[in-house]
Amino acid sequence: MNMIDPFGRTISYLRVSVTDRCDFRCTYCMAEDMTFLPKKDLLSLEELDRLCTVFIEKGVRRLRLTGGEPLVRKNIMHLVRELSRHLKSGALEELTLTTNGSQLARFAGELADCGVKRINVSLDTLDPEKFHAVTRWGHLDKVMAGIDAAQAAGLKIKLNAVALKGFNDIELPEMLRWAHGRGMDLTVIETMPMGEIDLDRTDQYLPLSLLRADLERQFTLTDIPYKTGGPARYVEVAETGGRLGFITPMTHNFCESCNRVRLTCTGTLYMCLGQEDAADLRAPLRASEGNELLSSAIDEAIGRKPKGHDFIIDRRTSRPAVSRHMSVTGG
Ligand code: SAM
Repeated sequence: MNMIDPFGRTISYLRVSVTDRCDFRCTYCMAEDMTFLPKKDLLSLEELDRLCTVFIEKGVRRLRLTGGEPLVRKNIMHLVRELSRHLKSGALEELTLTTNGSQLARFAGELADCGVKRINVSLDTLDPEKFHAVTRWGHLDKVMAGIDAAQAAGLKIKLNAVALKGFNDIELPEMLRWAHGRGMDLTVIETMPMGEIDLDRTDQYLPLSLLRADLERQFTLTDIPYKTGGPARYVEVAETGGRLGFITPMTHNFCESCNRVRLTCTGTLYMCLGQEDAADLRAPLRASEGNELLSSAIDEAIGRKPKGHDFIIDRRTSRPAVSRHMSVTGG
């Protein structure tokens, strides 16, 4: 029952944004004054479980919960626990999540108990003041406590940092040493033009080719074939013995190997992070108790998966490539 798109790519990875709300307001992600999806349009946790289960029956092997901040969705652990049955049955290879870490101290133990093995924690700086400035609402000490708790619970952590020119570029060597010293991989990400924010993205954008050249003045980076199912390309850092990933949606989008689709908390399926086209799965989900309508709506959507995206950030292109924020589709 594999899902294969028109370009022969097998879709085996689902990302689910369980809420578009977040307890941070990262400057490159959201405007300070955000309008969120109406609560009445939200799928219930039971509906999200049913949708995910249909995707798993259709060949999804990896499932990532994201958002918004997944751990601020009320009763989210109920969904995690329910989904963990697919790990036990062997239908799902991996259940994981991407989090800002603010609520991890509370949930790390339970996540591990549900069979979650590794998580991504987004962290753009180790400086408490800069952290507060970039997240607008966040506090670094809470995230650090979350990271401690997750490691104590045995979860493997990969840190994700969005590379921001003039903000964290000079700090990344220190972050690399710190992350690797604590046994965590670090991945850097190019900022993408998604949704209106209060800032000019051209001021923030840092091509990772430049960052890599900069890091190579201090570190020996060797390309390695390590893969986690995502779009990162990894190098090994000789001086630290750790792994550094590069996610380069701007300079090299790797769409040819895209294996994923993204579901929002209102049941909208996006077949590409960088395109507007979407399929509504909420109507077929609610139209009947059986899953036939839903399954054919998914097939129809996969049949429309585009070849890829072309994000552009430059002074002439002032509009975002897609109107929705990253928090809607999920990172
Ligand atoms: N709240 C969770 C978190 O912070 O990890 C999950 C959702 S967040 C939208 C997922 C990831 O997307 C984060 O690592 C965030 O830094 C990144 N992100 C948000 N907006 C972005 C943008 N415009 N370009 C690149 N990455 C972005």
